[in-house]
Amino acid sequence: MEFDLIELIRRHTAQPRDDVRLGIGDDAAVLAVPAGQELAVAIDTLVDGVHFPRGTAAADIGWKALAVNLSDLAAMGASPAWAVLALTLPAADAAFVEGFAEGFAQLAQPHRLALVGGDTTRGPLCISVAVHGFVPPGKALTRAGARVGDAVLVTGTLGDAAAGLHALQHPWRDDDPRSSLREFLIERLNRPVPRLAAGAALRGQASACADISDGLLADLGHICTASGVGAEIEAALLPRSSALLGLHDEATALHFALSGGDDYELCFTVPAQRLADVQADLSRLGCGVTRIGRIVEGKSVRVRGADGAWLNTDRSGWEHFA
Ligand code: ADP
Ligand code: MG
Repeated sequence: MEFDLIELIRRHTAQPRDDVRLGIGDDAAVLAVPAGQELAVAIDTLVDGVHFPRGTAAADIGWKALAVNLSDLAAMGASPAWAVLALTLPAADAAFVEGFAEGFAQLAQPHRLALVGGDTTRGPLCISVAVHGFVPPGKALTRAGARVGDAVLVTGTLGDAAAGLHALQHPWRDDDPRSSLREFLIERLNRPVPRLAAGAALRGQASACADISDGLLADLGHICTASGVGAEIEAALLPRSSALLGLHDEATALHFALSGGDDYELCFTVPAQRLADVQADLSRLGCGVTRIGRIVEGKSVRVRGADGAWLNTDRSGWEHFA
């Protein structure tokens, strides 16, 4: 039975690549890192009911399990090549595995990412994906290069995934006129789009970069810690979707944008003299990009409200609901 499931996965994710000498089917995959490239490796685990709500569609889980990993490669400026998948399932459920593999493949295929191996076991639903990508030697984006005076920017809009989770937890009637806004936000939660093209464009341009998985304050906090600097953010500059603003009051929308996880946008810093070029480059890629603040001396991330007063924040988030 396990072999039927593996065959199902293999069939859905087939992706011919010259650098895969040996893929699914042997005791280990054999892979050839192209000459003149460094390998970037990341792994992330999704646990049922923790990293996605119980009852999430199998295809959404498959997409998201890969997306959160590709987002880590994006944040490094790496281009994805290979993945391995450890799948723990409560039962040998072929329909679930097929849906999962379809969602995974929908994201893998356009990036020509090959699934080259994995492990399938029985237990509480849990998915680990490890991804491998290439980056030119010494060119990986890290969290450590932010300097005082650099601009702080983010891609896309913030807080949508947190609002999507809120929407799932607070069901409405289907005929509510705001259903389409809720669907947009739930899609942002279930189908995050990793910012791979933006990450690659930021190589050699951004001084530091991280993806936003735990919320802006937390992840910008990681950049500040690694770089030995502080940051000042303007609440009024934070990019928020019309769906988020259409469903929530300003205080809640701000809370989601600052502290909500799961957006998988990029947060990065750019020296002032390169700011205009970087903004133009990302816009040309069709990637929304917004300057939200600047790097300062110190070690804290502070947020100035629209009225000019500092908000009461800490690294774990803005204590709006405290
Ligand atoms: P072994 O016992 O030697 O580790 P397995 O029976 O676990 O091998 O796996 C057989 C083959 O199927 C291996 O090549 C392995 O990488 C692959 N495989 C197993 N599970 C998965 C999975 N969930 N996704 C992709 N490949 C898998
Ligand atoms: Mg073996």
